[in-house]
Amino acid sequence: MRLSRYFLTTLKETPAEAKIVSHRLMLRAGMVRQASAGIYSWLPLGFRVLRNIENIVHEEMAAAGAQAVLMPTLQLADLWRESGRYDAYGPEMLRISDRHDRDMLYGPTNEEQITQIMRDDIRSYRDLPRNLYHIQWKFRDEIRPRFGVMRGREFLMKDGYSFDLDFEAAKRSYNIMFVAYLRTYARMGLKAIPMQADSGPIGGDLSHEFVILADTGESAVYADKRLFDMDPHADDVDFEGDLEPIFKKWTSLYAATDEKHDPTVCSVEGENLVEARGIEVGHIFYFGTKYSEPLGCAVTMPDGEKRLIHGGSYGIGVSRLVGAIIEASHDDAGIVWPDAVAPFNVALINLKSGDEVCDAVANDLYAKLSDAGVQVLHDDRDERAGVKFADMDLIGLPWQLTVGPRGVKAGTVELKRRAGGDKEELSIDSALSRILDFDS
Ligand code: ATP
Ligand code: MG
Repeated sequence: MRLSRYFLTTLKETPAEAKIVSHRLMLRAGMVRQASAGIYSWLPLGFRVLRNIENIVHEEMAAAGAQAVLMPTLQLADLWRESGRYDAYGPEMLRISDRHDRDMLYGPTNEEQITQIMRDDIRSYRDLPRNLYHIQWKFRDEIRPRFGVMRGREFLMKDGYSFDLDFEAAKRSYNIMFVAYLRTYARMGLKAIPMQADSGPIGGDLSHEFVILADTGESAVYADKRLFDMDPHADDVDFEGDLEPIFKKWTSLYAATDEKHDPTVCSVEGENLVEARGIEVGHIFYFGTKYSEPLGCAVTMPDGEKRLIHGGSYGIGVSRLVGAIIEASHDDAGIVWPDAVAPFNVALINLKSGDEVCDAVANDLYAKLSDAGVQVLHDDRDERAGVKFADMDLIGLPWQLTVGPRGVKAGTVELKRRAGGDKEELSIDSALSRILDFDS
């Protein structure tokens, strides 16, 4: 992609309304623009990151055996009246009516909708287990939308739902999602720690929030230091096998956020206790028959008995993650994207656009990288070097490959790794193979 033709406006000044670094950087890097309070348009650069995050979620969900669907944003109020949540939900729910005066709502979540699908489509115990998810926009009229996309009113969520015959089977589904979540965040370059959470009266302990540490996080975190040394990829995962040992390994160490933290039962103290701030990037919980009972969603057992199905709910804050990743990975000059979610892999900087030799080398590099499947943003603008470097540091692509008049005479280019800032003067071929051989 040629930057001269790309829709990207960067800002030098820090927008006054942005209180935290990720919000500032997302505005300055031209990733999003606010449409109204807590509602954003995603511009090309930001949308690419959002898509990358979605793709990782899709791949990991598929690996764990969950199937993608797409449920609507607008739902009938009557369905939520069946579960009793239409009146219980409060002012966060956006309530609307259609031209026939039917009450509708913009979904803040989809438990009712998915339970209705199950109710209509499954009959027998043989139809279980089921695990469906979608990635869809949600609306919650948050009292204080803030921090950009981190606490929006309209936001993109992956929400998945498992349905099983009994608690034992539901626990297996829970474990599968628990492990899939560890892997999903790790692939995005994040260390997300599962923390015991509240799940209301039914869930028992089967409720975990996945939290990453960041000074600007909204919740206080108390956790055993050893959790942060654990490797989410250490176990060969067979999603058909028994995942209880992995679940046990991660949940045997203390980790809780403020709502659930109880100093009297906290088993860690002193230097083993991490006291920090955290951002919730996901939440999974078992809800049993909370929705199948009021909505009448049961299957027939071999002896003809009808049995209510047991559900679990699995959320990931997809749009929040864009901000959360920046909170976890930035420096004074701008964003430092982890390779897996970066909007482009390489910033190709031509320091002398219009110069025949520089243009030829840059175009050749662009073609070779693109042919190899590398996503390149080619800064071919007629701008000063300082402006180009500042912009590319700001938008934070993992590699900067700079073509300049002095280097091309000697047959070299400069390769900089955005994370850490290491720079090397390399021959064109070595620079190419350095990028192509890099294994993130
Ligand atoms: P929070 O405690 O942050 O308000 P929640 O408990 O209401 O979140 P869930 O209903 O579990 O959230 O939603 C699943 C995920 O969706 C959360 O873990 C979070 O990452 C994300 N999320 C929730 N509310 C918002 C929001 N207003 N803006 C952006 N993402 C959100
Ligand atoms: Mg929560």
